[in-house]
This record gives sequence, structure tokens and C-alpha cells, in this order.
Amino acid sequence: MKPILPGATIGVLGSGQLGRMFAIAARQMGYRVHTLSPDSESPAGQVSDVEITAPYEDLDAVRTLARNVDAVTFEFENVPVETVEVAAGIVPVRPAGSVLHVTQHRIREKTFLRKMGLPTTRFSIVRSLDELHQALSETGCPSILKTADFGYDGKGQVAIDSPARAEEAWATIGRRDGVLEAFVDFDRELSLVAVRGDDGSFAHYGLIENRHRAHILDLSYTPARVPERLELDAIEMARTVMEQLQVVGVLCVEFFLTRDGRLLVNELAPRPHNSGHFTLDACVTSQFEQQLRAVCGLPLGSTRQLQPAAMANLLGDLWDNGEPDWLAACAQPEVKLHLYGKLEPRRGRKMGHLTALAPSVDCALRGVIDARNSLVTGPSM
Ligand code: AMP
Repeated sequence: MKPILPGATIGVLGSGQLGRMFAIAARQMGYRVHTLSPDSESPAGQVSDVEITAPYEDLDAVRTLARNVDAVTFEFENVPVETVEVAAGIVPVRPAGSVLHVTQHRIREKTFLRKMGLPTTRFSIVRSLDELHQALSETGCPSILKTADFGYDGKGQVAIDSPARAEEAWATIGRRDGVLEAFVDFDRELSLVAVRGDDGSFAHYGLIENRHRAHILDLSYTPARVPERLELDAIEMARTVMEQLQVVGVLCVEFFLTRDGRLLVNELAPRPHNSGHFTLDACVTSQFEQQLRAVCGLPLGSTRQLQPAAMANLLGDLWDNGEPDWLAACAQPEVKLHLYGKLEPRRGRKMGHLTALAPSVDCALRGVIDARNSLVTGPSM
């Protein structure tokens, strides 16, 4: 494909914080950005040239977006594949709809990973209550039942601690197709953010350590403190995934590190990822600029990390006792504040993040936790 050069216009399906940070990276390099999502005054829409407010199923609106841009990408993997295909009939869409088709559906994603010989948690496909009973007798408890589609940040998941709970769990996920996974008593969660260019070039940001709270990412820090062999394995797995799916763009592979030192792939996200936000402040090229470069067919930038870094998410819970104390966080000179322009803080909603740079990962982690604690005037988080 001929490179799409600065001055061109990129369309984004979805309008959350990932779209916002992508749009800022694109505008920094002289591109224009149009977004489409059901929301108005959205995080991405606020920093775009044009914000189209329409449901993803409004294919006329999707055609309007596509006709006015030079390429389309998405920031939200639950965009219907049909929407992507309609846009792809008019302009290049990157990554392609076929990548979404696999990664937005847990059964297809797990089946793909298994076919590629990549290690995953033990799982069974569940399409009925009978199949759930059968799966529970094979997998045992504790286990986790996850819906095949529309799940993120722990939504559409239920833990099952006894086979007697099968019926209740099946009702909780809405009696929809899903997978039953063995519960992994992991040592740590890790992720690898990688990018594949239009010409097949590949780059990555190394392994990142992640801590979740209530299924939502809480802290990420990097470089991960893991043996080099483990990191090389993770990189090869990401490369396999991206080559097999022919991804053009950024993709994140989420892993569990088991207590006996094995990597298991938890899931794939075909877009810039929350655990890669540190790249905005700590790397030569951020994951958002890489996404832009890949989408536009430009050469990839350097992923070199300038210093160890840690990132802390800022959830709506921080607003429980009123507006957080921004001055306190800004008083820490090695800490960077990012806010997403969301108009209403809600518990569990990602409102922003902080990144700290330091000579060591431990120091960066301490710095970012202290900075986040300084935001709340009441009891510390
Ligand atoms: P997911 O949406 O599948 O990434 O799940 C969100 C979070 O739930 C993960 O990052 C883990 O912290 C936890 N989780 C999901 N699946 C499992 C599992 N099979 N075993 C243990 N924890 C899990």
C-alpha cells in the first residue's frame, strides 16, 4: 500500500481514552482525525477534527466516516465486524476485520491459540448448561466461566467454586456461549505490547508486569523482573500471533506466569493496551504513534525505553471524596498526569493514569503509588 502521509485523515471507530491518545499522536504528526461512536463529547471526540455520533450498526454513518478519511482503525474491539467490513469496502481498515473476528470472540480466540500450539489456561467450550456440567467435571473447581463475546475488564465473567453453582453461573452470564477456564493460581500477570508494520516489520516493548484490582488493571511496571528466556518466549509468541493473523497495527498479548515459571496466554487485544500507556512518557515512540505508523504504512519507530517506568490507573473511585488533589500529583517532578476528559467519574471507570520514571522499577513503582495516594485527601487508596 502507498504510505498515507501527514496531512491525510484517519478515521477511528470508538471514542474512549485509547482513541483519544491515538488522536493526539496523529494530530502531533499533522494528521486529521474523525471518530465514530455512539457517544458525544467523548474522550476521543474532544481532540478530533470531526466527531460522528452514531451507533456502530448505523452503516450509513459508517460509510460517511469512511468516505471522508484515508484509512480507518478501531480502538475498541467490540465494534461489529460488519461495521469494519463496510468501511473496508471504501478505505483500508487496519488491523483488518479478520483480526477482530478472531479476537473479539473468546471461543474463536482460544481455538486459534490452541491451533497455533500456544500455551493457554485449560478451557472447554460451553454452549449449554449440559456442556457446562460436563466442562466442570473435566476442569474441576475453582474455575471461571466467561462469555464468548462482549467481555472486558472482568465483565461477562463469573467464578465457580462448586459444581452445584453451575446453573446460577450459567444464568449470570446470560445463558450465552462461552468458555470455562481453570482458575490459574498465578505468580504474576504480564503483557507484551507489539506492533507489526504493513511491510511485515515487527517491534515490541518488552514484557510488562501488571497488577489487577477487581479484574481491572491497577498498576503496570517495566522492564519486568523475569528471566531473559521467558521474555524471548513471550516475544516469539506475540510474533507468531501477529504473523498468523496478519495484523497490521499494535496488539497486546496478556499472559499469566504460573508459579512453576510457565507462560500461559490469557487473551489478545488487537489495539494499543492499557499496560502500554507508559510508552507515552518512557519510550522513543509511544504505542499510539506506532499504531498510527502501522495504519499509515510508515516505517515503525524505535521502541527503546528511556528509563524504568510504572503506570497507575486513576479510576472514578478516586472522586469518592470530591475532586482529587491534582496539585499534589503535579508536585512530583518525575510523575506525568494523563486525564481522559471523561465528564462523569464512576466507580471502576478509567478516568486517567499517572506514569512515573525512575532509575529502577521499584523506585518508579513507589513513585507512582505515592503520587496516586497524594491525590486523595481522605483514606489512602
Ligand atoms: P480477562 O478479561 O479474561 O483478561 O480477565 C480479567 C482478569 O481476571 C485477569 O487479568 C485476571 O486477573 C483475572 N482472571 C481471568 N481469567 C483468570 C483465570 N483463568 N485464572 C485466574 N485469574 C483470572
